[in-house]
Amino acid sequence: MTAYDVDNIFAKILRGDIPAYKVYEDDDVLAFMDVMPQSDGHTLILPKTPARNILDVEPDVLAKVIKVTQKIAKAAVKAFEADGAVIMQYNEAPAGQTVFHLHFHVVPRYLGVPLRP
Ligand code: ADP
Repeated sequence: MTAYDVDNIFAKILRGDIPAYKVYEDDDVLAFMDVMPQSDGHTLILPKTPARNILDVEPDVLAKVIKVTQKIAKAAVKAFEADGAVIMQYNEAPAGQTVFHLHFHVVPRYLGVPLRP
């Protein structure tokens, strides 16, 4: 697999080189709002340690990210008064990944409201 690129945009956010609207942070995990949300409350959750995607992340790191993803999904559904949420995660370009630092999407869904493109 291609090596981790330390200059990907999420690595820059983690370093504080570019801003993000952060909604959760602990020693291992960061969550911030997606800059092009597919629905109200679209949030991204990622580990602070370098990992390209789920194919190369350490299992213990993955476990921490998943736990925070559940926390964020519950909080987003409540805060944005959603009717449900989709959790998405892409691995490598053919699968739709465009930013190569592991992340999970929490996309709240609303009855009768289609996703934004
Ligand atoms: P896709 O672009 O197909 O959703 P990814 O799973 O790699 O593939 O998602 C990258 C996500 O990162 C996109 O939803 C995009 O809107 C978001 N994004 C890109 N740059 C930023 C940024 N600077 N701050 C917040 N979100 C960003």
